[in-house]
Amino acid sequence: LEAKEEFSHKTRAMDVMRPRKNDPPLTVITQDAMTVEDVEAIVSSTTYSGYPVVVSRASQRLVGFVLRRDLIISIENARKKQDGILRSILDLSPFTVTDETPMEIVVDIFRKLGLRQCLVTHNGKLLGIITKKDVLKHIAQMANQDPDSILFN
Ligand code: ADP
Repeated sequence: LEAKEEFSHKTRAMDVMRPRKNDPPLTVITQDAMTVEDVEAIVSSTTYSGYPVVVSRASQRLVGFVLRRDLIISIENARKKQDGILRSILDLSPFTVTDETPMEIVVDIFRKLGLRQCLVTHNGKLLGIITKKDVLKHIAQMANQDPDSILFN
């Protein structure tokens, strides 16, 4: 029992977040150097529900989070009147956890706040994303390996 409990305790946000070790990097929007065309290319080449926004590719410092559906509408509007496409749709305080946060706390936050996604940072730098579905998959995995997981208490 002790070993099992230890296992649940040791799963942290970094173990569940995407990208995984050999995955391609997170698809992000950079605040400093992207044109509407660049953003359009991202939206049409990926299917993610949303995209973290960072200051620059080099810094990876998190600015916020933008939903795909809002971006699509905003790109459409930008064609009509030349305007910043992120200004009104960017969530400037997306929920974040650090990579060291125990998954049981992450699960709790998702449940209590009804989150769809949560960003993972380390010293303010964006590392990854955890979606509601990632959390549900993690819970299902835990349930298979550990029916008495503390996640369900
Ligand atoms: P869902 O998890 O509901 O399928 P998404 O389509 O947004 O939602 O995400 C699919 C997978 O890709 C998830 O495992 C998620 O962690 C990951 N993901 C989400 N957004 C991004 C992104 N901008 N860049 C890279 N991976 C992402």
